[in-house]
Amino acid sequence: VDFILSEDGSGKGAALITAVIDKYLYAMRFSDETLRDIMARFRREMENGLGRDINPTATVKMLPTFVRSIPDGSEKGDFIALDLGGSNFRILRVKVSHEKKQTVQMESQIYETPEDIIHGSGSRLFDHVAECLGDFMEKQKIKDKKLPMGFTFSFPCAHSKLDEAVLLTWTKRFKASGVEGMDVVKLLNKAIKKRGDYDADIMAVVNDTVGTMMTCGFDDQRCEVGIIIGTGTNACYMEELRHIDMVEGDEGRMCINTEWGAFGDDGTLEDIRTEFDREIDRGSLNPGKQLFEKMVSGMYMGELVRLILVKMAKEGLLFEGRITPELLTKGKFDTKHVSAIEKSKEGLTKANEILTRLGVEPSEDDCIAVQHVCAIVSFRSANLIAATLGAILTRLKDNKNSPRLRTTVGIDGSLYKMHPQYARRLHKTVRRLVPESDVRFLLSESGSGKGAAMVTAWASRLADQTRQ
Ligand code: BGC
Ligand code: MG
Repeated sequence: VDFILSEDGSGKGAALITAVIDKYLYAMRFSDETLRDIMARFRREMENGLGRDINPTATVKMLPTFVRSIPDGSEKGDFIALDLGGSNFRILRVKVSHEKKQTVQMESQIYETPEDIIHGSGSRLFDHVAECLGDFMEKQKIKDKKLPMGFTFSFPCAHSKLDEAVLLTWTKRFKASGVEGMDVVKLLNKAIKKRGDYDADIMAVVNDTVGTMMTCGFDDQRCEVGIIIGTGTNACYMEELRHIDMVEGDEGRMCINTEWGAFGDDGTLEDIRTEFDREIDRGSLNPGKQLFEKMVSGMYMGELVRLILVKMAKEGLLFEGRITPELLTKGKFDTKHVSAIEKSKEGLTKANEILTRLGVEPSEDDCIAVQHVCAIVSFRSANLIAATLGAILTRLKDNKNSPRLRTTVGIDGSLYKMHPQYARRLHKTVRRLVPESDVRFLLSESGSGKGAAMVTAWASRLADQTRQ
């Protein structure tokens, strides 16, 4: 284990405390053997999702995206990109030009998505999106133009083409009524028409994983996987068309949105889910769904830690048994607290601050213990993602029929970016689980908007060609 903590704790001594917690949370610590087993399970789920017979009932949906290649450097133009469903709702203007070399210029603005809107009616949600878009175009002074637009929509959608996306189910914090089963392009177009003060030409809808893969693909042509580890989690990768039963054609590749967040929804992960995972699920907006996501992603990690702390306090293992109303309040312990507490230098001071705010009057030993609980929960997340990513990597390697895989994985997401140890642990575990790979992990510095613009560039060029 590489999360042994500093040995300078007073009282019982850090080593003893961490040993006690290790034992208490043994169900959250996986051996490599277990991780390899999970990797094999996910590999089977991927195969099920790709097959025509199983796909309609498959848990891991493996959705065709109709994105067929990563950027080739010839894209250009002036685009609008909408990014809805991540931790921020963002609107971007992306200008891609071509003097000597390809350059990208971006301007963006973040807009609020208040809870009453994301939990209200779908028409209100899309009215809000259209209103923000109007505001953005006004500020950019482009209300009279009809720029090609790309839409990063970070939810599972069924595509039959690039500019049609039927929402299968809401995930994370969203639950607006009347949108599931509908084409979000139609809904947005309707909201824009109703206003009548500007026009938009939505050319492509992409998942945020796809946007991330395309953004990173812009800088590294080898990029063929995109991952998000943020509020939610998911991955996409380039699959051989001949393996995708749901789409005609055998030549070339297409990006598949795996929707791995739903891994385990059919019971496949019951043996590794804990009482804490079940409690999280029961209290969620979508019980029984996105079970893998609930074990790993940022929306749930802080809450997982809180549930563990409550139980340990009740058993007298923490805070001398003190339980405060704050500690008992859902949402009072955030994933960003986990990140702060796991900082190598100031972590214990942070733990003291955060726990003091919860009113539990922590001792030094309590802080050490809580830091270790955080480490186990976040390490479990990185381990599980390493296993599912490992399955994608071995699949890519087998597709290429080569003994070694050299590839680039584009990554984005608040948890991956903010947590001080996460990235290192993930990379290390992936390399251990798939030793026959040379993986470059590329952080998407500019989010998925640039990628959405790349897809839009490609789509609008295609549309021009068909028009001619
Ligand atoms: C959604 C995915 C998305 C992921 C990351 C999940 O909840 O189902 O479509 O890519 O979150 O944002
Ligand atoms: Mg995002």
